Amino acid sequence: MTSPPPVLVWFRDDLRLADNLALTNAVRSGQPLMCVYVRPAGPACTTALDWWRLQSVQALDQALCARGGRLHVFAAHAEQLVPELVRYSGCTQVFWNRRYDPAGKATDTQIKAQLKQMGVEVHSTPGNLLHEPWTVRSKTGQPFQVFGAFWRAACAAAHYPAPLAAPAGMVFAPCTAQPAAQVLPDVEVGELPCWAKAMQPYHAFTEQDAHAQLQDFIAHALQTYTQDRDFPDKDATSELSPFLRTGQITPGQIWHAVAAAGVQGGGVKFLSEIGWREFAWSLLWEHPDLNTRNLKPEFDTMPWRVDPKGLARWQQGRTGYPLVDAGMRQLWQTGLMHNRVRMVVASFLVKHLLIDWREGERWFAHTLVDYDPASNPMNWQWNAGTGVESAPFFRIMNPILQSQKFDPDGAYIRTWVPELAGLSGPDIHTPWQASLLQPTGYPSPIVEHTVARARALAAWKAQKNGG
Ligand code: FAD
Repeated sequence: MTSPPPVLVWFRDDLRLADNLALTNAVRSGQPLMCVYVRPAGPACTTALDWWRLQSVQALDQALCARGGRLHVFAAHAEQLVPELVRYSGCTQVFWNRRYDPAGKATDTQIKAQLKQMGVEVHSTPGNLLHEPWTVRSKTGQPFQVFGAFWRAACAAAHYPAPLAAPAGMVFAPCTAQPAAQVLPDVEVGELPCWAKAMQPYHAFTEQDAHAQLQDFIAHALQTYTQDRDFPDKDATSELSPFLRTGQITPGQIWHAVAAAGVQGGGVKFLSEIGWREFAWSLLWEHPDLNTRNLKPEFDTMPWRVDPKGLARWQQGRTGYPLVDAGMRQLWQTGLMHNRVRMVVASFLVKHLLIDWREGERWFAHTLVDYDPASNPMNWQWNAGTGVESAPFFRIMNPILQSQKFDPDGAYIRTWVPELAGLSGPDIHTPWQASLLQPTGYPSPIVEHTVARARALAAWKAQKNGG
């Protein structure tokens, strides 16, 4: 008896076994699975997200190995590789969960057309969102511009199916790659840059790690999430964003876990943050150039400063403003930064230094392990005042007041800016005013707050009045 032909399961932003519709459907086909991951040809690790992905791919490979299979990893152009792989291995069906970013969408459309021409069935299923990004619409069928209305409509239409368990009885086919493809027989991590090695102690990568983190958050922090979530030194948020990015956990699984715990206290607020992620993806769907174009076109004439030295000091966490510097150094060391601090550093770059928000967006895209092509530009535009429903440009965050309010004891600052660890009391927020100036090497403020504020407002007014 001849064995049935294999089916190809192409993993992308869904590095998990449970609640994975593409994988479950592939198993239900009754045919053996060929599980594949394709990373772009070229260097394996140039951004923090690349590094996070490599580790996460390795974790998925181990999970498949434990079930007698493998994740076959390739470094190649997917448009060439996937059809060739299908041809050489005789796959009759291909399964994947959708991607919604402009580049991923374009690649998938092209590959789908090629495979269909070859007579191969392609099954693309909903990806890593609660709602397909084109589905939450106003009564007149228009995309929402305002989060509150978006989320009310989304919640009113919410019927999230119970998450799928990891499929049982997976049977695997050997991988038959075409001779020219660059197959990486073992998941390749290779020589990592030193910045990547430094991030290792701060992260775990498996699907089980993601769920353990969710359960821990529900048990210890969900109730007080609303009050505590803005304090960077408190263990008050879920830190699930990298897992959501590469799909070790789904928003559906989070929704059901929070609902099971009882959506009172911080639950509503927490789920609305998951809603912001949904909103970002629906915005990106409507505005594929979200990371390059001001959603408010009046900002196209904003006289941003070109200041490479200032930009470098911001990137290195050497602005002389402790909370800003603590955030930028946390980012560099761990690939993450607390949300409140992301807001403060974004405001500082755009308003105090008057540097184009796109510079900050690019730096975050390079350094965040949770870098997300929808959430990152949406938040940058929101903070810069250039986005839909943004905080207006003239609301300029005072980095000293933010520091005093959200890191009152300076514990967060002391963790990430060790030169200031010896400062006690309120001086931690304004080290330049410390009565005993210490030879710490910590820089003086790059710009004085009131001067910077006045400069930003003047630039904004000039731009508003037609330059
Ligand atoms: P929690 O407070 O536990 O929230 C749960 C989840 O809700 C998060 O994991 C995330 O998926 C989602 N969420 C929370 N806040 C937001 C938000 N403002 N916008 C969209 N989704 C949100 N988030 C990213 O995932 N990727 C990014 O590239 C990114 N860039 C940002 C850039 C700037 C300038 C700012 C101000 C925010 C950015 N955020 C980004 C949003 C937010 O800072 C992170 O999602 C959050 O800090 C992740 O920590 P958490 O998982 O503990 O969040």
